[in-house]
Amino acid sequence: LDLLSQCWNECGLDPAKAAGVGITVPGMADMNSGTLLYAPFLGWRDVPVREIVSTRLSGPPVTIANDVNACALGETYFGQASSFDNVLWVTVSTGVGGGIIVNKQLYEGEYGIAGEIGHVTVEWENPRRCSCGQWGCLEAHASGTAIAERAMELMQQNGDAPLARYLREQRLPVSAASIAQAARSGVPEAIELYRSAGHYLGRAFSFAANLFNFGAVIVGGGVSLSMELWLPAAQDVFRRSVIHETNRNMPILATGLGYEAGLKGAAALAFHYRAKNGGSE
Ligand SMILES: [Zn+2]
Repeated sequence: LDLLSQCWNECGLDPAKAAGVGITVPGMADMNSGTLLYAPFLGWRDVPVREIVSTRLSGPPVTIANDVNACALGETYFGQASSFDNVLWVTVSTGVGGGIIVNKQLYEGEYGIAGEIGHVTVEWENPRRCSCGQWGCLEAHASGTAIAERAMELMQQNGDAPLARYLREQRLPVSAASIAQAARSGVPEAIELYRSAGHYLGRAFSFAANLFNFGAVIVGGGVSLSMELWLPAAQDVFRRSVIHETNRNMPILATGLGYEAGLKGAAALAFHYRAKNGGSE
């Protein structure tokens, strides 16, 4: 809140004239009550964010949403998704999250937790354990964390394999980013790790496309920066798995908003709230 006041002062803005305040939270949020229901990383539960912020700021309406859902809205208001009515936003980062836009509106589901594409099952024969407690989830097979963990396992099996040698020579830690660098340098295991992640992403996108007939899937998060490494595999599985031409031709795109997706998402939340309540954008 102090930071927000500081921003307003520095930019010379008048809070009374603001369209609203949008807040994104890293967890489950109930947009109607403005409550952060659960944030696994912070361990927070049932925090009345809107109430806390509103009482300190007299004036602009305050809206909160899950950070990934806010990215989906941000892309709809400010990014490539603006040309489509129905879009799936997917963040592929340390985890995998999703946000669904239907008819240009955020689809929240019955209890506000729709879009959890990270936890659809994509592997049955050799499933990996997911942070949610289930096995074979997309997040357990295609997140940046999963890519790094699989690399670690490969290197433990063979400390002299090309990937292990490459990372040692380049003095790089094991991470999704360093493995992407190795893949671009032609290290076969690194190429295969990204190809495999793409395979699972394509599989999950196909489930979503068959259900919703989206206009596009837009991908953000760190792993989207290495899209050229996994997109061909994703497209291959995707096209073989979906029904109808309209799905087959659905573009899988990287966000144009980059790391600002979350910030623009927060701004989009304020506009979204205003539009929803009869105001103009
Ligand atoms: Zn899971």
